[in-house]
Amino acid sequence: MIKFLDLQAQYQVIKPEIDEALQDVLDNSSYILGPRVTDCENKFAALCDVKHAIGVNTGTSALHLSLLAHDIGPGDEVITVPLTFVATVAAIMYVGAKPVLVDVEPDFYTMDPEKVEQAITSRTKAIMPVHLYGQTADMGAIMALGEKYGIPVIEDACQAHCAEYHGRRAGSIGAVGCFSFYPGKNLGAYGEGGMVVTNDDRIADKVKMLRDWGQRDKGVHECLGYNYRLEGFQGAVVGVKAKYIEQWSEGRRSRAALYADCLSGHGVAVPKVRSGCEHVYHVYAVLVDQREKVQEALASDGVQTGVHYKLPVHLQPGYSQLGYGKGDLPIAEKVASQTLSLPMYPELKDEEVEVVSERLALALKAL
Ligand SMILES: *Cc1c(COP(=O)(O)O)cnc(C)c1O
Repeated sequence: MIKFLDLQAQYQVIKPEIDEALQDVLDNSSYILGPRVTDCENKFAALCDVKHAIGVNTGTSALHLSLLAHDIGPGDEVITVPLTFVATVAAIMYVGAKPVLVDVEPDFYTMDPEKVEQAITSRTKAIMPVHLYGQTADMGAIMALGEKYGIPVIEDACQAHCAEYHGRRAGSIGAVGCFSFYPGKNLGAYGEGGMVVTNDDRIADKVKMLRDWGQRDKGVHECLGYNYRLEGFQGAVVGVKAKYIEQWSEGRRSRAALYADCLSGHGVAVPKVRSGCEHVYHVYAVLVDQREKVQEALASDGVQTGVHYKLPVHLQPGYSQLGYGKGDLPIAEKVASQTLSLPMYPELKDEEVEVVSERLALALKAL
């Protein structure tokens, strides 16, 4: 049986450091924020090459607070993509703004800048690209649009810890970057966690205040705030893992290279890497025909796979109020119907990549 994800394999490697860090939180009773969270914020800021990193309780909260810090609310529009985890779109709805969805590029499955320009109106208050599967969107073109129209870019980098766009780290290019430390993410906590990164002092100050009940000074609530603080245990885990993330990203890239090798000539669309970019393969997604059938065949052959995402957000039953229908965003819909995520983690063995590839090729041949 080859697992889709194996969190134990990684824990076993770093167990002594993790256990010690967690014990330290217990010894200090610093369960919420505290020194381990500050340490993890400093390390993450350095990794992203930004001035400020503010730990929050989830990636969703990072998105929510980034929108609030830009005073985005009812009557405003935010441009994003349908091929993402629902949280991207939900965060826009949480602040009462209207998500305006644009289609993705056929090669990289990220926001198509040409579609963005067509969607800009006088009400557009932010552009929110998603660095899907661990690869950055076309940030050069998106930032150029943001500058041309005076609209801030909020990066959903929840899948792209340490990914790069022309030498710049994901999350550090726009006005603000949002990360998730959900356990299955490339840099995962052992519970929920997230981070907002920015070079803007004013935005950093606002996010800090908003995550902690609107307090700058304890006991003085300057605005309507939230209980979105990062826990000490999660800060401790992320702080330990920060040291390994670059090496783990390398591991993922070498797994991806081996997959591409093994799968060539078998009718599988393997991920394309945008020129000048460093992909971090949060998800190794291939496109296949008859995805459900292929997934079942692999499962019965002992290979676990995933799907990211079965339905684009605009076709999710709970998001019908957005007013989109089938056929409105055809590239996202096509990718969603064909995408299949293969096992991908740095600890995955060469033989396992070979076995998965072999069985996928067989399943496709048998269609
Ligand atoms: C994981 C994820 C989120 C949400 O992060 P949580 O920590 O689970 O709240 C948002 N956007 C994208 C693209 C994600 O992959």
